[in-house]
Amino acid sequence: MRIFAIGRNYAEHISELNNERPDEPVIFTKPDTALIRKNAPFYYPTISKDIHYEVELVLRICKEGKAIEEKFAHKYYDSIGIGIDFTARDLQQKAKEKGLPWDIAKGFNGSAPVSDTFHPVSNFKDLHNINFKLEVDGVVKQEGNTSHMLFNFDYIVSYLSNFFTLKTGDLIFTGTPKGVGPVALGNRLSAYIENEKLLEFEVK
Ligand code: MG
Repeated sequence: MRIFAIGRNYAEHISELNNERPDEPVIFTKPDTALIRKNAPFYYPTISKDIHYEVELVLRICKEGKAIEEKFAHKYYDSIGIGIDFTARDLQQKAKEKGLPWDIAKGFNGSAPVSDTFHPVSNFKDLHNINFKLEVDGVVKQEGNTSHMLFNFDYIVSYLSNFFTLKTGDLIFTGTPKGVGPVALGNRLSAYIENEKLLEFEVK
């Protein structure tokens, strides 16, 4: 199982971090040791003093494929969940300044809490109009809608599959909307698709 992630996929989030709008999806990966399931707590790591939450919809790959044409991409993912792309913003900033890779800023232990529940794609009326949000201690911090993605699910799956053979069970984080910010010890994070809470855990 691999975890792929797309950076800079929502225009207003690109602006808040003063990033350039990409011509193609920005891709990075996290190792499987980043994954947290079952609403287990996130333990604030000692490697950073500025861990940010980024709530994202997560696709699950259901069929092996490579060089998938965009028009067939929908056959390769069958369900959608929600996760947090935890980012060590201080380490990422240093890496960006030096043009170095993001691995340690994005892939550290526990950097990918993901909901246990994934809803079948067929449950959604329109994949281009899915609302999702993040609350921290009951206060809404991020709200997104898939209509604002620069690159939609089919494009992302097709694009990724040109570089990496996608396998059943792989997860794809599809980008975060605006509103990212730091977490602190004791915070309780709750992530929703539409109005259903699918993920909830504490920062310890
Ligand atoms: Mg992200």
